[in-house]
Amino acid sequence: LGKGVAYSVKKKELYKDKNLIIFGGGDSALDWTIELADITKSLTLVHRRDSFRGSPNTETQMRELVETGNVNLKTPYVIEGIQGSSKVSGVSIKNFENKKIELMDCNEILFLFGLNKKLGPIADWGLNIVDKKVSVDTEKYQTNEDGIFAVGDINDYPGKLDLILCGFHETTLAVQHAYRRCFPGERVPFGYTTSNSKLHKKLGVKVD
Ligand SMILES: Cc1cc2nc3c(=O)[nH]c(=O)nc-3n(C[C@H](O)[C@H](O)[C@H](O)COP(=O)(O)OP(=O)(O)OC[C@H]3O[C@@H](n4cnc5c(N)ncnc54)[C@H](O)[C@@H]3O)c2cc1C
Repeated sequence: LGKGVAYSVKKKELYKDKNLIIFGGGDSALDWTIELADITKSLTLVHRRDSFRGSPNTETQMRELVETGNVNLKTPYVIEGIQGSSKVSGVSIKNFENKKIELMDCNEILFLFGLNKKLGPIADWGLNIVDKKVSVDTEKYQTNEDGIFAVGDINDYPGKLDLILCGFHETTLAVQHAYRRCFPGERVPFGYTTSNSKLHKKLGVKVD
């Protein structure tokens, strides 16, 4: 820590007027590339292939910054080594295709490779799992096991987007069905946050 290598951004100011190299190809790498390109002296994004896992819109923004010369994009490259003794002074990167090594000077490195998804015991529950994601239907967001629901980034179905909004929608529908299972025959509570005073109270919202 403090030597020029980080796995998350704690303070943006740290990168002001620095030569920064970001490694990664997901949302974090793309988001921070866009966010920090304005304040760094130079910013290089290194990824092992020329396609990105992040949202297409963010990738477009990143590529626009490459076009305007604000971001230097290096693909298909992987990290080979880090130079510097007490503080980072550069990196060596290897071209994935021709295996040639290149040296690049930098003051700061950010490794943003994303989270390593581990399902733990969930993997042994007999659920249909594809690429570490649990398959669900889009009516109840239920898995192949009756009564086991999956919502949010962990689930998958045709058209799935890993967004908070989608997680909220999936949860709303899954909870409705889970409630019916738990309390058969009972009316499922339903209310609008705009007009339901009980919800206002729960959420601590004051309405005049
Ligand atoms: C850089 C970045 C920017 C983003 N920006 C946006 C945005 O602007 N708008 C938007 O809508 N979405 C955005 N997203 C996506 C959004 O963050 C996710 O869709 C959302 O957080 C998913 O919520 P979740 O609860 O399903 O999963 P998570 O938020 O990942 O929560 C899952 C939780 O489960 C825990 N967990 C993991 N494995 C296990 C296990 N085996 N047992 C028990 N617990 C476990 C984890 O520790 C974690 O706390 C962004 C994502 C990234 C990475």
